[in-house]
Amino acid sequence: MSVFAHTDFSSHQQVVFCHDPASGLKAIIAIHDRTLGPACGGCRMWAYASEDEAIADALRLSQGMTYKNALAGNPLGGGKAVIWGDPAQDKTSALLRAFGKAVNRLGGRYITAEDVGMRVADMEIVRSQTRHVIGLNSSPAASGNPAPWTARGVAAGIRAALDYRFGSANPQGRTIAIQGLGQVGMALAAELHRQGARLVVADIDPRRLTQAQEQFAAQVVDSTEIHRHPADVFAPCALGGVVTAERTPHLGAAIIAGSANNQLATPEVAALLHQRGILYAPDYVINAGGVINAAGEARGQYDPSSVMRRVDAIGETLTRLFRRADHEHQPTDVIARAMAEDILTRARLENAA
Ligand code: NAD
Repeated sequence: MSVFAHTDFSSHQQVVFCHDPASGLKAIIAIHDRTLGPACGGCRMWAYASEDEAIADALRLSQGMTYKNALAGNPLGGGKAVIWGDPAQDKTSALLRAFGKAVNRLGGRYITAEDVGMRVADMEIVRSQTRHVIGLNSSPAASGNPAPWTARGVAAGIRAALDYRFGSANPQGRTIAIQGLGQVGMALAAELHRQGARLVVADIDPRRLTQAQEQFAAQVVDSTEIHRHPADVFAPCALGGVVTAERTPHLGAAIIAGSANNQLATPEVAALLHQRGILYAPDYVINAGGVINAAGEARGQYDPSSVMRRVDAIGETLTRLFRRADHEHQPTDVIARAMAEDILTRARLENAA
């Protein structure tokens, strides 16, 4: 399919296809918008079923990063890279170095970081070929693994959503269904368990399920059914596209608030959730903790206390968004885009002045 005609193409500024036959690298780097700063977003490695699926992921995720950075107050634009391959089999040092070279050729227009299928150690190898990478352990302003910060921001967002919906932010006694117990989902489960929530969990990795059962007394359910489970909050923390039009009538939770990018399978699902009175915390707002943490590294200064303050403020941003959505009788997703577009329009006017 043509990139320009792609349904997920949204006036992207640049889309780069990278191929290195020697290492087997096939990657797509999508630069969506650089109004607020260099395009920044993680690199995902995934065994996509087709090239079109990989392109769609890169285009959607990079646009999400533009909105995420805008609403998080980061001086960064939106970009994303995807590597087409199975991280368990195809990820080699040579492939990571070839990816680093591809990022470097963009001369700082795109700054990469880790995402699904990549680890901080992988990004250290990418760093051997380019300085345009963040979320490291070794650079002078290293911000480290973003996942714990993402989990902290999601926990703050869940508290804000509980408060807005039920009049109390306290997760104690609330049932929270978490899909995906990876770096973010497991840290989120630990924090919510500490705060007294009852956990229902699903993952495709049985070892993670056993860990959650043993450490958090979590109830395990099937991953294809977890969205139906009666809960106060459904937290998608695996992959995107889990909230579909077909599933919306069967959702068992009053709130959707999790870390996964692109949780809504199509933009129309936002209206369906709104009609059903399900409070949706837009993914790119609630999951900004990691990129807030990494933004300091991009500027060459890292201050953990300011990061903590800004990550916890995700709850306040969501509360403002929920209020405006109610006031304007619009889905929260529509309002999040409007708030981000307002920020971008103001910045474009300032840049032009
Ligand atoms: P991860 O790779 O560490 O974890 C993903 C988890 O989901 C794994 O445990 C995996 O087994 C599980 N999983 C995969 N498919 C599943 C399925 N069909 N059903 C149930 N579980 C399944 O990834 P992560 O870093 O924890 O990120 C989780 C999500 O949050 C991703 O969508 C990612 O894009 C998003 N996100 C992560 C960060 C971050 O800081 N890591 C930041 C923003 C957004």
